[in-house]
Amino acid sequence: MNNKSKRLHLNEMQVPLPDYLFEGIDFDAIRFYPLESLEEELRRLISSYVGVTEDEVFIYSGIDGLIELMYKALHDSAFVVPKPSYYVYEQEALRQGVHLNTIELSHDYRLTESFFKQSEGAVCVVVNPNNPTGNILLQQNEAERLLLNAQYLVVDEAYYEFSHVTMVPLVKEWDNLIVFRTFSKAFGLAGARISYMVSNQRTIERFSRYCEIYRVPTLSLMLAKNALLNPEYMYSYVDMVKTEMSHLLDVLTTLDIRARGSDGNFILVDRDFGECLVANGFNVRLMENDARVTVTAPPESEEIINIAKNYRR
Ligand code: PMP
Repeated sequence: MNNKSKRLHLNEMQVPLPDYLFEGIDFDAIRFYPLESLEEELRRLISSYVGVTEDEVFIYSGIDGLIELMYKALHDSAFVVPKPSYYVYEQEALRQGVHLNTIELSHDYRLTESFFKQSEGAVCVVVNPNNPTGNILLQQNEAERLLLNAQYLVVDEAYYEFSHVTMVPLVKEWDNLIVFRTFSKAFGLAGARISYMVSNQRTIERFSRYCEIYRVPTLSLMLAKNALLNPEYMYSYVDMVKTEMSHLLDVLTTLDIRARGSDGNFILVDRDFGECLVANGFNVRLMENDARVTVTAPPESEEIINIAKNYRR
């Protein structure tokens, strides 16, 4: 290959998963439909990892799946989302024929007054930290301001393990708060398609009316369970991302290549430099003025630095 290491366009984990993640997996259990006891066990682990009760956790197959479910479960509502944001919110609304009100972020990537106004009575979705802009959009006081007037506030915390900013503690006080989390990013289980939502029991019941009984495969439940029982690899991956991100940003800035860090596992660089990375065999996400590049480890990160050093020569 190494095709895997060149995939810097989907914010996937760039280091191999540790062998211990696959230890003790009972493959023979695949004969059975996903066992309720396994799901309950994982729900228990998630609830203590997150700091809520078990009935406030709903396990599902990817945040993308939760987005699809959200539009089905809350189909009578008006939806508001900032722009730019994670593209699936728009794509899925379009697919289901749901009207979605998109409100531009300010030039410095903040929520605008217009966003707060339009959120009144609506289901308002904030990706925090945002993708692709990479910054935190909501602190607790802004979330509370939205919760006061919105029908629901949905906070997508796909990158929580990198940002450490969470609205989960507000779930106890606000029954109109929904938080989405995933095992795809810091836990490196994107291919297992497993995520969860944190909310009150009534909202969880409302969502579960629209999904199948066996919604998450046995193997994915087992992998997520092992990940939470042995999270050291996740912490060291998060540390690696922070170190490499800051090193890369230092180098790019010194070389006068426009670059911005994020509270996730990616950086934004000047689009022209992104195109240069593509020409050198890296898959990155090209956007209007920027390119989004997943932070990676040596030797690929050194390769990127060498490309940068030769960029203007
Ligand atoms: N939300 C955000 C903000 C993302 O960036 C991504 C993946 N790029 C997802 C959700 C998708 O998560 P999952 O793999 O759990 O569907």
